[in-house]
Amino acid sequence: MKFLLVANWKMNPETKKEAKNLFDLIKKGLKNVKNTEVVICAPFPFISILNPRPKILKLGAQNCFWEKSGPFTGEISTLMLKDLNCQYVILGHSERRRYLGETDEMINKKLKAALKANLKPILCIGETEQEKRAGKTKKVLISQLKNAFNRLATKWLSRLIIAYEPVWAIGTGNSCGLEEAKRIYLFLRNLLQDENSSHPIPILYGGSVNSENARDYIEKAGFQGLLIGGASLDPQEFTKTVALLESLKKSEK
Ligand code: PEP
Repeated sequence: MKFLLVANWKMNPETKKEAKNLFDLIKKGLKNVKNTEVVICAPFPFISILNPRPKILKLGAQNCFWEKSGPFTGEISTLMLKDLNCQYVILGHSERRRYLGETDEMINKKLKAALKANLKPILCIGETEQEKRAGKTKKVLISQLKNAFNRLATKWLSRLIIAYEPVWAIGTGNSCGLEEAKRIYLFLRNLLQDENSSHPIPILYGGSVNSENARDYIEKAGFQGLLIGGASLDPQEFTKTVALLESLKKSEK
């Protein structure tokens, strides 16, 4: 299985010109990428002007709506994303849960719509600082997963990607400690009960990842990939992280 490295540009950059420039610099900086699937999740208005490289650099979105079309002002459908050559979609990001009031129920509907449209959903889960302090991390993760998977046919499970993103680690520079990350990884892997499956669900880590700490989350904590926000806006930093994952895979063989 390849590593998965997902860039979440969030609401950045400000212009088409900057977005194209950033994308092209990343594309240019990717050399001999064989073992890592690299995905750029850009803001909606920029997706159509980015030219992916089919095997190396793929496109994703940061959200989608659950209906295919109709009177849903301001929303974007999975069919529109497919038409823009998106292959992935981030769902349930904590910023959307927090600022846009996204509930587990909405995320569940989006998840089903994305899967039906043949998009690969990256489902974000994670506890807040308050929940962590109250010792509720596992409870929160179980509840977010259970609600997101509500009435989801098991045949879809092999198409899912989970991103563990502790809310307190996102954009704070306060990344999750390795022992803790490993513990949560094993907890989630066990919860997903797919060790014997030929397509185990990839579990990514996200939260203040950069080229300095990226390697450890894969090598030491066991994650199958990373979701990177802030550091993905720096093309050198981001392509350095891709190169790191590539070297890791090679040295593993
Ligand atoms: C994110 O937005 O999903 C994220 C992990 O952000 P950052 O890398 O900036 O913490």
